[in-house]
Amino acid sequence: MSVPPPRKHVGVCVFPFASHTSPMLAIVRQIAASAPDVLFSFFGTKTSNGQVFSKEAAEGGGNVRSCVVDDGLPEVYVPSGYPMETVELFLKAVPGNFYKAIEAAERAVGVKISCLITDAFLWFGAEMVRDKGVRWIPVWFSGPQPLLAHVYTDLIRETLGSEGLQDSKTLDFIPGLESIRDKDLPSEVIRLDPTSQFSVMIEKMPQSLLTAATVVVNSLDELNPFITAQLQKHLKKILNVGPISMLSTPPKTEKEAPLLPAADPHGCIQWLNEQPPASVVYISFGSVITLLPREVTALAEALDETAVPFLWSFRGDPNEQLPPEFVTRSTTAEGCSNSKSKIVPWAPQLDVLRHSSVGVFLTHCGWNSLLESFTGGVPTILRPFYGDQNMNCRCMEVVMRMGIGLEGGKITKAGTMAALRRVLFEKEGKEMRGRIVPLKEMIARAMAASGSSRKNLESLMEMVTK
Ligand code: UDP
Repeated sequence: MSVPPPRKHVGVCVFPFASHTSPMLAIVRQIAASAPDVLFSFFGTKTSNGQVFSKEAAEGGGNVRSCVVDDGLPEVYVPSGYPMETVELFLKAVPGNFYKAIEAAERAVGVKISCLITDAFLWFGAEMVRDKGVRWIPVWFSGPQPLLAHVYTDLIRETLGSEGLQDSKTLDFIPGLESIRDKDLPSEVIRLDPTSQFSVMIEKMPQSLLTAATVVVNSLDELNPFITAQLQKHLKKILNVGPISMLSTPPKTEKEAPLLPAADPHGCIQWLNEQPPASVVYISFGSVITLLPREVTALAEALDETAVPFLWSFRGDPNEQLPPEFVTRSTTAEGCSNSKSKIVPWAPQLDVLRHSSVGVFLTHCGWNSLLESFTGGVPTILRPFYGDQNMNCRCMEVVMRMGIGLEGGKITKAGTMAALRRVLFEKEGKEMRGRIVPLKEMIARAMAASGSSRKNLESLMEMVTK
């Protein structure tokens, strides 16, 4: 029996690194569930799509198809150790790899793509739709403040000059960013590095976003209406549909699996169930970052000395990076876990942060992680690294006052012990929790059936599928 062609064919181009693929798939699955007669071709690399699609779904379950684009790696790839290498090689292959994959998908499906959803980083979406005469919808996965900084890149450079970072200078010339210092900005906003494909991509992004009829943002209307209004002065239309990581669609068919990883194979929730209320420090630096060895050691020593129960989502091999006595103490016959501590390779973070036993979240200030800390009502200890993380940290500490930075900005034994004490045992921590409660309720309202993010999502569905 031949399958009828879809009513519409929508292309989705992913920036296949860090936490960009899962939230994109979460949005797309929501839209796809509302329009079973529309087909979504989801273009990512073999690796990135492999992380989010089950084998069955990749092979054709439901109306979201996994489509592989060239990752730009040489046939025999030996990593040099440079952390951005795979990103740089991928970016050397764009946009040709996407054009090629889209043409192949159009041939296979027999229907041309009539709408292109891309990660906002992929500036060439604007060019692709110009060539094809279709609608482009970029999705910005970070927060509204960094987006505003990118939109104001030229003014920031003109005002700060080319002398580089001046530390104490604040962006008091941009309404909404008055508390941000130049050193908090993503380095790509401060200056272009023409030798970096990533920097070149970020350079081109703001101008192309100005041409988009709609930019979808991972935030909610109520979180920062002033910043949204500022953005609205430059961008044609903003649709806040976040927190995107809270969107989840039950599998549409038995063949289609939910987003991976959704389960809790390491028993984090069960372990949290056994801990006292608001006692646990949850530690995670997102999907990419690995700490420097001296920070790993300092953190382990601080945890040891404070004897605070902890759940650590650990990138890498704990046996290679943690002091042996620490691993031994944290290990039972069931793995890296005992009554006081648990080390896992991946945690169901959203559920962890909503658990009443979690008292504080030590985070790298990734935007998804911060939105999830609001959702759980959990105060944060902030250890940002790069990109938007320093800006997010500054907003959390100075504007929202829902987290505290570490002395000197890095993890030391003494600094971490002091921060844990302040958040878990002192009035300051209670006050931070108090400030997060209204935010937690605001998010719950925005995500409810008639809430702002749901309504915006419905507008997006209409835009993409009608
Ligand atoms: N995450 C998770 N389990 C982990 C670590 C991370 O589920 O053990 C998820 C987390 O919930 C968040 C995402 O990974 O949705 C991290 O995104 P974020 O923007 O915070 O940081 P990035 O990974 O992009 O640096």
